[in-house]
Amino acid sequence: MKKLNSLGWVIGLCLSAFAILVIALLFFFQTVLLEPMYEYNQVQTVKTVSNAVSESIGASDLDDVIYEATSQTDTCVRVFRSNEYVTTDQTGPSENVGCLLYRMPLNEIGEYIVKAEESEDQTHLAVTSERRDPSAKNRLKNIIYTRVMDTDFGKAAVMVYSNISSVSAASRTLASQLLYIGMIMILFICLLTYVLYRVIARPLVQINRNAKTLPQGEYTEDPKTNRYREAQELNQTLNTAAEDIRKADRAKRDLIANVSHDLRTPLTMISGYGEMMLDLPDEKTDENIHVIVDEAHRLTTLVNDLLDLSRMQENKVSLNMEIFDIAEMIRRETRKYEGYAQQEGCTIEVHTDEHAWVSGDISRMEQVVNNFLSNALNYGAGGGKIIVRQTHHDGYVRTEVRDFGEGIAPEDIRNIWDRYYKVDKTHVRASGGSGSGLAIVKEILELHHAKYGVSSQLHEGSTFWFELEEQKI
Ligand code: ADP
Repeated sequence: MKKLNSLGWVIGLCLSAFAILVIALLFFFQTVLLEPMYEYNQVQTVKTVSNAVSESIGASDLDDVIYEATSQTDTCVRVFRSNEYVTTDQTGPSENVGCLLYRMPLNEIGEYIVKAEESEDQTHLAVTSERRDPSAKNRLKNIIYTRVMDTDFGKAAVMVYSNISSVSAASRTLASQLLYIGMIMILFICLLTYVLYRVIARPLVQINRNAKTLPQGEYTEDPKTNRYREAQELNQTLNTAAEDIRKADRAKRDLIANVSHDLRTPLTMISGYGEMMLDLPDEKTDENIHVIVDEAHRLTTLVNDLLDLSRMQENKVSLNMEIFDIAEMIRRETRKYEGYAQQEGCTIEVHTDEHAWVSGDISRMEQVVNNFLSNALNYGAGGGKIIVRQTHHDGYVRTEVRDFGEGIAPEDIRNIWDRYYKVDKTHVRASGGSGSGLAIVKEILELHHAKYGVSSQLHEGSTFWFELEEQKI
């Protein structure tokens, strides 16, 4: 199996990856992209100012418009109308630098205007770089945006200027700050990993350790691991699994013990009678041969029932569904037991409708009724009476077999439907009983989607019942 990392490692790695991503993004935006983005924003500002001034080029409040636009944006403007400049504001974006447009020789200004005139959209953007003094590391970037246009009073030009002092110093500061941020983040991640490990991973590690004994059906829940809902649910699931494993283990042992016991009895009889007949020729009587045949039948029934149950549990049995009269079937099946009941000093009362139609596999439903009846006689004949009743209610046909015998203790009730469960391990099984009776009944009724159950009181008797949907014909 591939060796996987522990949860603590995974949490640590994920958090580190997240921190590296955040720092990389910060670094990229704050150092690499800072200057281009700043420059882009400044160019957009310069264009906006130029548009505002151009729109008011013929207006009498042009000076106010220029004042308004430049004072808010750290730009300066120079306007030419018919080769004559008309603006009054000569302060530049940075007071100490002043407005380049007013320091620039007119022939240079003329060059910018010509470039704008030659361009398709009548504008020209120049971004030039200048070193303020030879020793300074920082360069100053000048942005000059020139726009020419035709107006009612001839040609006009609007020039807007702004500058960007290099942000390399700022980005160096930011880079060193990032270093500190990185170190703080590493510390923070170590702390967070530890906290998350304690809160999330530790209970899981502990549960995992405790679950190592699960194959033996043992699980000791540590209450300290119930720190959050999922861990609590996991504990509950493991507890149930341990319980189920114990139950399955017990059932397996019971099954082996009971099956071997039930196989041994007829086998002993068969081999005993066989040997006796071999040794003593006088004993070769029909009666003894009958014993051997009966016991062989019993073995066949036992093995068939076990196979049947396995096939049903693996869903390998298909039902022969038909609509039949269950009232008639109950009367017919009960009649078979009357002789045996009389021998046991017991009477069977039958209460059914004239007809009651249901849908099902008739031979399988006979198996169910037979099992309830033989169990009632086997465990309840002592009560002197068995009542078999068929009733109707809410679109269902209910069949119940009631006895007044020994009953079943509440702690045994939910287990009696299990394969090979016996309440009283020493109870002599009725002839033909395979010990899988109720387990087979349960499978049959579930295949029919029938409701079924038992109510019982110790020493007062039991009522086994099932309900099938009523069919109208
Ligand atoms: P078997 O009867 O062969 O043991 P079943 O599966 O038919 O197997 O029954 C399982 C167990 O349920 C029985 O061993 C018995 O302990 C209990 N049981 C079934 N029916 C009754 C009943 N009518 N009264 C009391 N106990 C019963």
